[in-house]
Amino acid sequence: MSFAIETRGLTKTYASALGPIHAVQDVTIAIPRGELFGLFGPNGAGKSTLIRMLATLLAPTAGEARVNGFDIARQADEVRASIGLVFSNEHSFYGRLTGRKNLNFFAALQNIPRRDIRRRVDELLGMFDLLSPAGRMFHTYSTGMRQKLNMARALLHNPSILFLDEPTKGMDLPTAEAVRKLLKEEIVGRQGKTVFLTTHDLYDMEQLCDRVAVIAQGQIQEFGDLRELLASPASERAYQVELAEAVAGLAARLEKLENVKEVKAEGTRLEIVSNNGARMDQVLWNEIIANGGQIRSYGPRDDGLRALVRRVSRGDNTE
Ligand code: ADP
Repeated sequence: MSFAIETRGLTKTYASALGPIHAVQDVTIAIPRGELFGLFGPNGAGKSTLIRMLATLLAPTAGEARVNGFDIARQADEVRASIGLVFSNEHSFYGRLTGRKNLNFFAALQNIPRRDIRRRVDELLGMFDLLSPAGRMFHTYSTGMRQKLNMARALLHNPSILFLDEPTKGMDLPTAEAVRKLLKEEIVGRQGKTVFLTTHDLYDMEQLCDRVAVIAQGQIQEFGDLRELLASPASERAYQVELAEAVAGLAARLEKLENVKEVKAEGTRLEIVSNNGARMDQVLWNEIIANGGQIRSYGPRDDGLRALVRRVSRGDNTE
């Protein structure tokens, strides 16, 4: 099988006055063609360092990677020709040129034949719903419009792989939704491109991605098919409660509550699983107190993809 992106032991260590910074450590992943891949991680986790290496903007300290079948170290030109790259809030558009003229300019820079430019630019403006503001100067564009124009620019040369750093960041809800739909249905679904995006939005990840990886402190914590990772029993919402003293019959009473699927009691410790991921902290809390229970500690059971994401977002992945 040929993969769109394949890495083996990819590593980047920065030197700093305080010692080495292990920005990306020993990352080994493989992403099939035509998939929407999401890299989730908090700030400083190593997401942009990883993208920059794959995009040949940064040389790895160790390890290797192939992008579209090309080696990032030895075939950098071929890699660059086959990818589009969008960093959020980073653009070099001209504020006093229209959206269309900006795209025309970058198309010419990329050696797209003159006779093809108009058609290609029109096609992309249409795809991103930017035809009506195409004649307005770029500096009048909203954040969402700027981001969309950025994506359109990255697609000018029709790359087979698109790297997007936080694609929906700063967008209003309808624009974010439109961009998700476009990525999923058009760019990946119809055109068969591979999209590699980073996000720290769990919703983005769940709505969009076929395959995901969670990264923290430069290391991949979990990697795999999103549906499989979410389908594990851990994707049910589960709570762990520690009581001061065991309360006879409490488990049976909690089990009768609506949306409670299962209660396991072991001495002072209760584990409560709710149906369909229902959130019911307050209901449980009330019932326990009403039955004379004294709660020592209380919290979600920490396992599964969502829990991992929560933990990683708090900057705590030591468990
Ligand atoms: P993310 O994109 O997930 O926010 P980054 O890849 O930007 O994470 O950063 C990963 C780590 O590497 C952070 O600790 C960051 O401070 C550090 N880092 C990033 N770029 C450099 C650099 N040019 N020099 C030194 N340290 C860097």
